Amino acid sequence: MADEIQRVFVPSAIEEGGGSIALGCFSSEETAWQVLRSFLQKSDQMLLVSSSVVVWDIDVIGENGITVLSTMECKDCPVCGRRTFWLDLDNFSALCHGDACAAWIEESTVEPGVIDCGWPPVRFLKQAKDIQEAFSELFKIGDKMRAVSRVNSLGEQQPQAMMDEFESATKSDSKY
Ligand SMILES: [Zn+2]
Repeated sequence: MADEIQRVFVPSAIEEGGGSIALGCFSSEETAWQVLRSFLQKSDQMLLVSSSVVVWDIDVIGENGITVLSTMECKDCPVCGRRTFWLDLDNFSALCHGDACAAWIEESTVEPGVIDCGWPPVRFLKQAKDIQEAFSELFKIGDKMRAVSRVNSLGEQQPQAMMDEFESATKSDSKY
């Protein structure tokens, strides 16, 4: 049968403590990503540490049937402070999935080695020389926002500790 499903796309999330949250299995990569993205918008209401999209080939025994498309780690967002900032460790990019935020960090596609970062709500866009600088630019925006709204939504995690963590996370790709 020509239209028989050969592979399925499986998004999932890992909770603190190691529990896995299954989000279903889908016949298209696009649907799997949509399901995962809408789930990640609410990640500040849960204690999640990572998420992934994995492809399973049907009728293949063992590890050969599994391909990891993407693995992401969850952090507190430098701008909005919610735990909705997801780092893609394979593609060197990060995006806040929280409502009305969308702060992001990405390696420049035009200038290799340059890190771009931004915060769409105020059309903020800046280039940084490295990840630390990109993070501190976003923290500055977050500080301004908190000064204006007079709330402190930043978690107990300090900016420097977060940056160190981000740096070590992006270096340890042998983990997967
Ligand atoms: Zn955010």
